[in-house]
Amino acid sequence: MSAALAPVVSRNPADPSDILVETAAPGAFAAADAVERARTAQPGWLRGGAAARSAALGAIAAAVEAAADELTALAVREVGKPVTEARAEVARTAAIWRYYAQAPYDATGAVHETATGAGLLLTRRRPHGVAGLITPWNFPFAIPSWKAAPALATGNTVVLKPAPEATACAQRLAVIVQQAVPDGVLTVLPGGATEGDAVASAADVVSFTGSTAVGQAVARTVADRGVPVQAELGGLNAAIVLPDADLDTAAAHLAAAIAGYAGQKCTATSRVIAVGAALDPLREALIAHLRALPVGDPADPTTVCGPLIDERARSRVTEARRGLSELAGVPAPARNDGWYAAPALVENVPPGHPLLHQEVFGPLAVLLCADDLDHAVRIANSVPYGLVTSVHTASLDTALHGLDRLDTGMIRVNAPSTGVDFHLPFGGTKASSRGPREQGGAALDFYTSTRTYGLAPAHP
Ligand code: NAD
Repeated sequence: MSAALAPVVSRNPADPSDILVETAAPGAFAAADAVERARTAQPGWLRGGAAARSAALGAIAAAVEAAADELTALAVREVGKPVTEARAEVARTAAIWRYYAQAPYDATGAVHETATGAGLLLTRRRPHGVAGLITPWNFPFAIPSWKAAPALATGNTVVLKPAPEATACAQRLAVIVQQAVPDGVLTVLPGGATEGDAVASAADVVSFTGSTAVGQAVARTVADRGVPVQAELGGLNAAIVLPDADLDTAAAHLAAAIAGYAGQKCTATSRVIAVGAALDPLREALIAHLRALPVGDPADPTTVCGPLIDERARSRVTEARRGLSELAGVPAPARNDGWYAAPALVENVPPGHPLLHQEVFGPLAVLLCADDLDHAVRIANSVPYGLVTSVHTASLDTALHGLDRLDTGMIRVNAPSTGVDFHLPFGGTKASSRGPREQGGAALDFYTSTRTYGLAPAHP
């Protein structure tokens, strides 16, 4: 049965001859088995108590920190993340585990008076059972961690199905976690769509991050089973720049948000909307910053834009910019056939062009012009996605106006669209998200459900 499945392969995007993982796909039965093993382990993990779960999560944070150099190098090699950013992701991963290590001690409910005055009413949040986590490759340690840590903290066990392109990172993270938790509490199941679908079909709560088409299909299947599901999906994020902004600082933020990690973040900026007189000076500043942005070997600490994840991604970027006049194209390095694409800014894109309504997931942005702030907000809101918008202005009034009217889950003022914090709810509107938010306290709610208890006196 599994002989027909494509093998799981992961390659170095900067040097595709360097293969990190090449293994047979485990198949749907193995996925169902992994969920069953996790289900068997779950009651013991919950009964072990808050102190044990807190200590385990704290130990994972410390182990991630102790292995930071090795994990950083692995992310650089497997997913082509520039080393400075990879190091920051590993530090953030440790912080995520440490943050959720406190959660097992949090209150899980409230006490209420009864209507009659006798007895007590209580609420208590309880874990769902097995959390099935399906993750993309672009944050190979942080995304699995911001799902697994709250799931484990609240007493669920976990089956993680990582993207094939990030298999080695997920397996290394699993070794760290498994040293701190009992057998069966967290399993990493390599694979692709077959294994993802099998995990989504068997788990008691499902959290997905990835592309909109796949995530919406997964969310529908899981919701039809009556199981809680969240899906964090794509983006087509706008940056609105007002003439009163510090245009050079805004351009520096935008260049990093467009081309950092080759634009392969759901929060990357892909539409720059200049308002009125901001257009000409912003264009000039943005071109200068994009041209100065170091493109190349992700292992070089100065690199900001490394390779794309694979050949298919590079072709998608090449196709998306075909025939458009580029304002800031810089040559991409050709090194060991790495999947590089140069950052680019394009202007005068015809209405209806795919760049104006589809996510490309590459170092590419469109420059647009708006007559005034209302017009800019209308343009920003005119796409099927609603993840994050950045607004660049010196005026508090303008910022507040934007906050009220922008239809995105996250809004950042005078900051890049990328780089959101893990201790607050994360998610979008429209095609960018399905279901409840993740991260922060929202994740603790998602991985639990509320029970209401009524306690009456035995001898009224
Ligand atoms: P993808 O949708 O191709 O894959 C995501 C995961 O789903 C992988 O583990 C994949 O193996 C699995 N999968 C594929 N088909 C499946 C199926 N039929 N059933 C179940 N699982 C299946 O996405 P990707 O290329 O890994 O990641 C890039 C995308 O992720 C971009 O669209 C990006 O915007 C999005 N993303 C979103 C967020 C967010 O929080 N909103 C964060 C990071 C990435």
